Amino acid sequence: MAQQSLYWFTQDLRIQDNQALLAAQASHSLICVYPRWFKAQRWQHAPLGMHRWIFLQECLSDLAESLRGLGQRLHIFYGQPEDIIPKLCHTYDINHLLCTRLVGSDEKAILDTIRVRAPQTCIEQCDQYTLFSLSELPIRLKDWPKQYTPFRKLAEAWPVADALPAPETLPAMPKLFALPAIERPDWVPAPRHTRCNFYGGERAAQGQLDHYFSGQLPQHYKEVRNALEGWDNSSKFSPWLNQGCLSSRQITSRLRQYEHDQAANDSTHWLYLELLWREYFQWLHHRIGSRLFLFKGLAKTAPLTSYYAERFQKWCDGQTPYALVNACAKELKQTGYVSNRGRQILASCLVNELSVDWRYGAAWFEHQLVDYDVAVNWGNWQYIAGVGVDPRGGRHFDIEKQTSLYDSEGHYRRFWGAQAHAQLDSVDAADWPIVPGAHGD
Ligand SMILES: Cc1cc2nc3c(=O)[nH]c(=O)nc-3n(C[C@H](O)[C@H](O)[C@H](O)COP(=O)(O)OP(=O)(O)OC[C@H]3O[C@@H](n4cnc5c(N)ncnc54)[C@H](O)[C@@H]3O)c2cc1C
Repeated sequence: MAQQSLYWFTQDLRIQDNQALLAAQASHSLICVYPRWFKAQRWQHAPLGMHRWIFLQECLSDLAESLRGLGQRLHIFYGQPEDIIPKLCHTYDINHLLCTRLVGSDEKAILDTIRVRAPQTCIEQCDQYTLFSLSELPIRLKDWPKQYTPFRKLAEAWPVADALPAPETLPAMPKLFALPAIERPDWVPAPRHTRCNFYGGERAAQGQLDHYFSGQLPQHYKEVRNALEGWDNSSKFSPWLNQGCLSSRQITSRLRQYEHDQAANDSTHWLYLELLWREYFQWLHHRIGSRLFLFKGLAKTAPLTSYYAERFQKWCDGQTPYALVNACAKELKQTGYVSNRGRQILASCLVNELSVDWRYGAAWFEHQLVDYDVAVNWGNWQYIAGVGVDPRGGRHFDIEKQTSLYDSEGHYRRFWGAQAHAQLDSVDAADWPIVPGAHGD
């Protein structure tokens, strides 16, 4: 029987190093779709905020252009994939569905529904969001360690598959294929300008890859990666990696080439170790599923924190008593990005200084971050909140020390116009107003 394929694009918005797209070449006909859905609000915020929404649209336009060059079209739908995809499968006799394996528990549930609703369609999932494939992991999933180090020790020397070339051409769409004109529903947010510094798409991703590996930057990565500001102090690959405009195999292959041609040192190796952290969190989420979102996470008991609406809002807006935290918060809100150290300081402050339930912070990051990834974001939050895979049981960053280490001259705080706000709570535990400067008898 002739293979009638449907490619379901998700976090794989590229044509290079795309195993599923190469597999689609053998098909008689092909339809390429990207169904966009918006999950309901959780922990006070909608999952998709403006920074990532704009970036995503740039990624989709870039992909659409690349697919046109290969004789194909990208069809964008607004709605639930588990409704749209089975309908297309029935209408166009699709017997082969191609997609990238995603580890998210929501995404896995969607795929399960599609399986039930389109039983005649065979589903082929390719491991191309990750460095390793499920069948070639250095540790079996069922034995996945609750700490990074055992994984890292094995993975450091584990072979990584080569990045694949883009297909030269793709099969045509089915002859009778006619989609209704797709209108953007009212509930889709209209784009508005933000201060985000990232431009979406595979071409821009390749530009950043070239930029980062064209000089000395990888040789100094370890020394500067904790800096709070400076484009070149870390790779800035994350937004493209997480929409799949770039793969971790492509980065690894450029890194190996760089080490061969220029120099291999502690810094170049450290960059690889960070990619392994990303990898570790992906498969951890695959293993633990929705436990990633539990208040008590992987721990036996829940933390002694709660939800304080006023504190949480002040933290989001950069109005806490800590100027450095406020600078990080303002950068995140205005640009959709903040350095790794900035994220650690923000998360630690919310949990330790403000005693707020970590999941509200994770959801705020999910809403704001242009580089949001479910496994990495929630995994890092669990880690800092002491309910994740940290063998030390959580991290408390001393804000004064962080200030003197990373912003001793105050440049970062001044740049973001951040000040310390004296009062954190306007009411006490019994809801009585707290008057600044007033002391009871
Ligand atoms: C509370 C918190 C939430 C975070 N949420 C996210 C998120 O949603 N998406 C995301 O990509 N990263 C997240 N990170 C990890 C890290 O901050 C970013 O990956 C990094 O700042 C991205 O910038 P970069 O690409 O220049 O990183 P680089 O320092 O250049 O690192 C290269 C790559 O390694 C990976 N990496 C780096 N640090 C980590 C880490 N701590 N954990 C896992 N992978 C890492 C990323 O894929 C990154 O692109 C979070 C960290 C914290 C502390």
